[in-house]
Amino acid sequence: MSKIFKRVIDLIYPLDCRCLACGRTLYHNEHILCDECAAGLKPIEGRRCRVCSRRLYTEEEQDEGICGGCRRLTLERRVFGGSPFDHGETAARLVYALKYEHIIDAAGPLIPGMLNELPKGFDALVPVPLHVRRQRERGYNQSMALCEALGRASDLPILNALRRTRATRQQMKLAADERKANVSQAFEVIKPVIGKRLVIVDDVRTTGWTILSCADALYLKGAIDVRSLTATLAVVGR
Ligand SMILES: [Zn+2]
Ligand SMILES: [Zn+2]
Repeated sequence: MSKIFKRVIDLIYPLDCRCLACGRTLYHNEHILCDECAAGLKPIEGRRCRVCSRRLYTEEEQDEGICGGCRRLTLERRVFGGSPFDHGETAARLVYALKYEHIIDAAGPLIPGMLNELPKGFDALVPVPLHVRRQRERGYNQSMALCEALGRASDLPILNALRRTRATRQQMKLAADERKANVSQAFEVIKPVIGKRLVIVDDVRTTGWTILSCADALYLKGAIDVRSLTATLAVVGR
């Protein structure tokens, strides 16, 4: 397509009128995704890890109900959490738009799946904070955007309990063995959490080290149960 032709098309059909996943022009009853792409956004199927909700592949994993990664962790380092979608295609596209393209509404299609996996009887949603500098660059925190949408749908309050003590590199860009060191002790607790049951909310769970680091900090300050809820699960090092 020539550049000029493309520009004309962009003017007639602005980007926010097109499906984020396939680019088709949206009908007036569609928002963010076209109906076909929305229907294709399906939760992870089959047997899943009871700790991180990853799909279980090997027979051994299926017998034990836990993935290899979680089995290697000692009991106190296992943060239980739901994660409805694989980090592929439509779900990954929504997360990307939410994170890098300032499209807050991209959280919308992810929320029903996340709500399904929200644990019962918890006190508050806790966003994973960005470092001040990154938050300033980006203008908002995608984890907070997910918390706000989940909060509206579930009536759970948001507790902005964590602060990043130092800038860390983006987990998705690091090798599996670098991720642990990258986020270890990167968070401090800035609100009272004694006796609270908390759900850490984030966009993607990769190795789980970010969530573990947040949970460690919250437990240390007296939280009694900490779970996680992420939109997607990225498979690393398999
Ligand atoms: Zn589409
Ligand atoms: Zn697992």
